[in-house]
Order: sequence, then C-alpha cells, then structure tokens
Amino acid sequence: MTEGSGTRVLVITGPSGVGKGSLIAELLRRFPDLRLSVSATTRPPRSGERDGRDYHFLTPEEFERRVQAGEFLEHAEYAGNRYGTLRSEVEPERQPVVLEIEVQGARQVRETLPEAVQVFIAPPSVDALRERLLGRGTDSPEGIRARLARAEEELRAQDEFPHVIVNDELPRASRELIDRVATIWPRPAGRATARPDREGST
Ligand code: ADP
Ligand code: 5GP
Repeated sequence: MTEGSGTRVLVITGPSGVGKGSLIAELLRRFPDLRLSVSATTRPPRSGERDGRDYHFLTPEEFERRVQAGEFLEHAEYAGNRYGTLRSEVEPERQPVVLEIEVQGARQVRETLPEAVQVFIAPPSVDALRERLLGRGTDSPEGIRARLARAEEELRAQDEFPHVIVNDELPRASRELIDRVATIWPRPAGRATARPDREGST
C-alpha cells in the first residue's frame, strides 16, 4: 500500500439490504472514474452473478490460502461465509476505488487506511430493512434471519462512522451521497488524483 493511497478509497458500509449496492450504482454513474472493488467470497454465486464481475468466488481453502499469504486488505466472516477485499483490487493504479463491505471489514480498513473516507448507510427502520431483504428475493429465510441478526449489531456501530446517510428514498439518499463525495473529492473522482501538483517529479 503506497503512502496516502487511502485518500482515494471510499468505504460504503451498513447492513445487508440497506441499499449500498443501489446507492453505489448511482455513484458510479455520477463519477465514471470511480471503480468498484470486486470482493472475494466463499458464498455461492446467486443466479445471474458472474465470477470476477460481482465477486471473486473462492473455495474456503483458496480463501484461507490467500489470507495466509497476506493478500487481503481486510476480511470478515458474515452469515456463515467469508468475504474480503484483495489488496490487488485497491493497489494497482491511483484510480479512486469504492469498497462495499460490512462493518468488521470497515473497522479493519479504518486501522490500515485511516485516510479512507467511510460512509455508513442506515435504513429508516429495521422493518424497512426486513422488507428490502424480502423484496430483493436473493436470500433464503435462514440467510435473511442471519442478516437481520447481524444488522442489529451493525446499526449500533453507526456512531463510529464520520458520515451516516439514511437511505429512506433512493433518489434523495443518492443525492446526499453524491453531494458528500463531491465535497470530499471536489474534482471529478479520478482526475483529482492526477493533478500535476500532486504527481509532479520532485
Ligand atoms: P445492499 O447492497 O445494501 O445489500 P441493495 O442495494 O441490494 O442493498 O438493496 C436491497 C433491496 O432494497 C433491493 O431490492 C433494492 O432495490 C431495494 N432498495 C434500495 N434502496 C431502497 C430505498 N431507498 N427504498 C426502498 N427500497 C430500496
Ligand atoms: P452478500 O452476500 O449480500 O453479497 O454480502 C453480505 C455482506 O458482505 C454485505 O453486507 C456486503 O457489504 C458484505 N461484503 C461484501 N464484500 C465484502 C468484503 O470484501 N469485505 C467485507 N468485510 N464485507 C463484504
């Protein structure tokens, strides 16, 4: 990890089903130079998910081998599976990158990349979260139970985060997220990292 590289890292965290993916999709439309880090997981692919695009789908053995090899920036267990951000997703270029990760991982990034900008996405209520998880239709009843149990702990952690956005209505929350990111990265993300005054040969 190069010095200062965390300044171009944006972490979006919050409970599963709160709308992180939906908000990030809007963010990527607004900041075309921003890249979404593709996480690794031991969870089986959902219908329509593609290896290398949605996740790097790894066997538990391969995931553990990579943990031992120090290949992860952060990793965590979540609802019976392992998830993690490979350093290779964050390191190769100086392009701004967004990580969509759960709270334990966000805490690890806080330690290793303290300059990374961290945003917690909160639901308007736990009932709304349950409805979104049910409505998404991607998780088994057991998976939804595990996610909701975890959500209670995660919601208690929101005060640890400097930015908290309530995803009540998607267009409103999306505007709030875009405005905050635009304030943090005043130039279009990506070009901000290529300014001559930052990159000059001194
Ligand atoms: P996450 O990435 O945090 O797990 P998703 O982006 O997959 O969450 O959203 C979960 C479900 O909730 C999806 O079906 C999505 O369309 C829906 N959703 C997202 N934001 C809102 C919102 N503000 N109001 C109602 N439904 C929402
Ligand atoms: P899902 O199984 O719904 O895709 O993801 C479950 C949870 O794992 C979500 O809260 C998601 O944000 C989180 N997650 C996805 N990728 C990573 C990762 O690389 N690291 C960590 N710590 N969490 C992740």
